[in-house]
Amino acid sequence: MTIVIAIDGPAGSGKGTIAKKISSFYNFPHLDSGILYRSVAYLCHKSGEKIFDEKNVLRYAQNLNLDNIDIDKLRTENIDEISSKISSFSSLRESLKTFQLNFKKIHSDKSGIVVDGRDITTVIFPDAEIKFYITASLKDRANRRFEELVLNNSKIDKKLVIKELQKRDQRDMERSTAPLKIAKDAIVIDTSNLTIEEVNSKVQREIEKVIK
Ligand code: C5P
Repeated sequence: MTIVIAIDGPAGSGKGTIAKKISSFYNFPHLDSGILYRSVAYLCHKSGEKIFDEKNVLRYAQNLNLDNIDIDKLRTENIDEISSKISSFSSLRESLKTFQLNFKKIHSDKSGIVVDGRDITTVIFPDAEIKFYITASLKDRANRRFEELVLNNSKIDKKLVIKELQKRDQRDMERSTAPLKIAKDAIVIDTSNLTIEEVNSKVQREIEKVIK
């Protein structure tokens, strides 16, 4: 059996970092579902279209080949915004859902997988064996995102990062299809005042309860 460790949370919550750590500790393959939305956003951006048509966006998703996408180009403010906007298209979400379910199928020889995103615990893997909702204060999330953008050489004002995060939170939480919310059986961890190691040990303790 392949157990699913499903992790959701808003941007900058630290869920990606934790997902990577858990994945390498248990040797469970990891899917960062944000990369899927970002890759489609990158193709939209490259096409030069300013207004995103759902049919075109779906076509990019259906022909998505992650091998052709430079992951380093996906963490820019532009792609933040486009991915957040197109993620409300239900046909796109449906198409990417198939991709995500397939990820579990192709790793059926493994004892577990880790998938993180916004709707993993609620829509993609509602029966996941372990669910986490990782969150943090807006200020802490903005600080983390700011550092990430600076690393990518983006010249950006911190106030703008806060504003953009608020907009993304709002879009993610208020869209009608698969909004970001806390699954009722999810373990909620606020990472605001915790180190990565502290979050990691909390998460591992919960996982041990299930896999031991
Ligand atoms: O997680 P990340 O910030 O890379 O995701 C980029 C965008 O993709 C998010 O702002 C969100 O709108 C969208 N997304 C989503 N559902 C997921 C993962 C990401 O809607 N499962």
